[in-house]
Amino acid sequence: MSVRVRIAPSPTGNLHIGTARTAVFNWLFARHHGGQFILRIEDTDLERSRPEFTQNILDGLTWLGLNWDEGPFFQTKRMDLYQQAIRTLLDNGLAYRCYTSEAELDEMRAAQEARGQAPRYDNRHRHLTPDQEAAFQAEGRLPVIRFKIEDGREIAWKDMVRGTVSWRGSDLGGDMVIARRAPADEIGQPLYNFVVVVDDVDMNITHVIRGEDHVANTAKQILLYEALGAAVPEFAHTPLILSPAGKKLSKRDGVTSISDFRKMGYVADALGNYMTLLGWSPPDSTQERFTLAEAAEQFSFDRVTKAGAKFDWDKLNWLNSQYLHDIPADRLTDLLIPYWQNAGYEFDPGDRPWLEQLAALIGASLVRLEDAVEMSRYLFIVDVGFSDTATAQLQQDGTAAALQSILDSLASTQTLTADEAQTMIKTAVSTASVKKGLVMRSLRAALTGDMQGPDLIQSWLLLNQHQIDQRRLQQALAIAK
Ligand code: GLU
Repeated sequence: MSVRVRIAPSPTGNLHIGTARTAVFNWLFARHHGGQFILRIEDTDLERSRPEFTQNILDGLTWLGLNWDEGPFFQTKRMDLYQQAIRTLLDNGLAYRCYTSEAELDEMRAAQEARGQAPRYDNRHRHLTPDQEAAFQAEGRLPVIRFKIEDGREIAWKDMVRGTVSWRGSDLGGDMVIARRAPADEIGQPLYNFVVVVDDVDMNITHVIRGEDHVANTAKQILLYEALGAAVPEFAHTPLILSPAGKKLSKRDGVTSISDFRKMGYVADALGNYMTLLGWSPPDSTQERFTLAEAAEQFSFDRVTKAGAKFDWDKLNWLNSQYLHDIPADRLTDLLIPYWQNAGYEFDPGDRPWLEQLAALIGASLVRLEDAVEMSRYLFIVDVGFSDTATAQLQQDGTAAALQSILDSLASTQTLTADEAQTMIKTAVSTASVKKGLVMRSLRAALTGDMQGPDLIQSWLLLNQHQIDQRRLQQALAIAK
């Protein structure tokens, strides 16, 4: 039997980290078994579904490298299939029309609550006669369609993550609605729990891998598989992603959508790597860095935990920085250009070699691509100014003489080399009779406007190539004197 799994996001929001992680586990499982990974867009909620969310989901999965083998399939294009399946259930007596009004349902629930019972539909319209139905229709009532759930049923499955899970039919809330209200000679809009099963059967899904929040749905869905005469797939309910505080991760925790992580400058390989570790660990649990393909080779649900997976920013940041440090300068430059552009930094196509040297200079200090904006500000903004600590440094005794010496040396230089820069520093040490440390600190203050940052000599060479270094030294001397 070939493995067929699917990811079935609803386009009611941007691709969420939880959905993406579920996609990762599906993808890993499919690739491990040489199976198929299918993408289905569950867009039956017409009010909340939006095409831009669908696009965001497709873009996010593509960016992460979670390529799918079939789809995307859209549920809104498959309505005939669902209606046909509902007719079959109606014809077989496994589903029926229920005319209970919203007011009656509210009353029923209030009475149950008053008795201290859990709210449920009491199956009151299961056995209506044709005359009773006609009378309700004459009143103008629109029926829903309900699927029969026997209270006495025991539903159990062996979950690939949670082991044996079992539910009683009586805990499922009574006969379940599978289609919304519509005139009695029509079939209303079919609902989530039903269409998922019709699709999973139609698409020959062998393993349903999804978040733990779907466990109760699974119990209902197993009854639907049986009613439709279909084989029940295997299930794996993956642990939820929790906030650092241990609560369900929500919008309030800040960034939760893949496009936001991307904007901040997490790279796809790092985020993909991090998501595999949200609930799974490789057989060698000390191994933290791997590609999705490497994880797929080792992936199994035996190593997925039942406990919720806490989101750990430090770990994600660490992984991202590891990936960034390994990206060659030309590729890193491509990734950084949009950030520099968004920041309003100006450069020409001819600056490409300069940008690559800059990428090489700051690459090792980046945690996220976004950090490059602050880190390289002093190289783009001509009059970047001096921080308080830089100003204090510039006012130290000996600084003015040292900087003047460097400015003098620069007057007769074309394009500065690292060796020339070192020689100028030595000359400044002897001319001004100061320690080398003072020259270095003063030079940093003067050239970068701050007391810490990337390598000083490399920074100087880049500033020199854009003819900014002499100007900065003059500005610094104005403060130093
Ligand atoms: N559309 C559902 C969701 O986004 C999919 C659940 C499932 O995988 O069955 O949660």
